[in-house]
Amino acid sequence: MQANEATNVRMCADFHAHSTASDGTLSPGQLVERAADVGVTHFALTDHDTIAGLPEAAAVASSRGLQFITGVELSCLWRTQTIHVVGLDFDAEDPGFLQTLAQQETFRWERARLIAERLQKAGLPDMLTAAEEEAGGVPGRPHFAAAMVRMGCVDHVRLAFSRYLGAGKIGDVSRCWPELAAIVTAIVDAGGLAVLAHPKKYKMTATKLRALLADFQAAGGVGLEVLTSGQSSGDTGFLAELCRRTGCLASVGSDFHFPGAAWCELGRLPALPVGLEPIWTHFRAA
Ligand code: MN
Ligand code: MN
Ligand code: MN
Repeated sequence: MQANEATNVRMCADFHAHSTASDGTLSPGQLVERAADVGVTHFALTDHDTIAGLPEAAAVASSRGLQFITGVELSCLWRTQTIHVVGLDFDAEDPGFLQTLAQQETFRWERARLIAERLQKAGLPDMLTAAEEEAGGVPGRPHFAAAMVRMGCVDHVRLAFSRYLGAGKIGDVSRCWPELAAIVTAIVDAGGLAVLAHPKKYKMTATKLRALLADFQAAGGVGLEVLTSGQSSGDTGFLAELCRRTGCLASVGSDFHFPGAAWCELGRLPALPVGLEPIWTHFRAA
């Protein structure tokens, strides 16, 4: 929970969550209903490389009295590694940005075909159609995992990742994405704020993460996701210090994908560590 001391209004922010428009299990409307039910007051839907869920989410947010911020989570490359950048408070009708999103969808299809090809090389049947059915559109790794379970290739989604789809496995395809700087520029050019998502999830050394953040800021990135689900207090402390030292704005996001995980619920993050400048004070509505 975040306390907004200036106005003494209770604030609960969550600026990172997924719906069925990408790999979440709740529809955009259901997701916003859930956010409202658990007390979230400021919310952004950040599906992977698509803003298709925004109109539905915005309509429900308005009916439930939530402050809704446009959002998206874009995949990109930095030194051959896949990095996720959350874009917030951009103009969702900006023509250049819509073009970037169309390109991301093309990249996603290319990647899906590559994943399917590689899985076949690993001895599995062709999964592309089944994964596409799971996704209701362009499939990502969770959809391939679900298809594998449905087709009896593995017993659990967890196994699908540990054997075939997880980091470094045969179905982990990252080379399709555009460069970090191009993605940050696209967000900035659409009037948005670019946030480096879940920085500790990349499992980088502190030195490498600092180098990533330096390149991110040089490209126009302004935010660091200091709080995310399942993060140790030590990691949060490290990120808070990094945020202070680099002058980044602090963002908070659960990265919610589906209900029922004890370690991840909408709006359940601790308060921002002291001395950080919250990103929401820079939103246009603020
Ligand atoms: Mn996801
Ligand atoms: Mn991510
Ligand atoms: Mn995410």
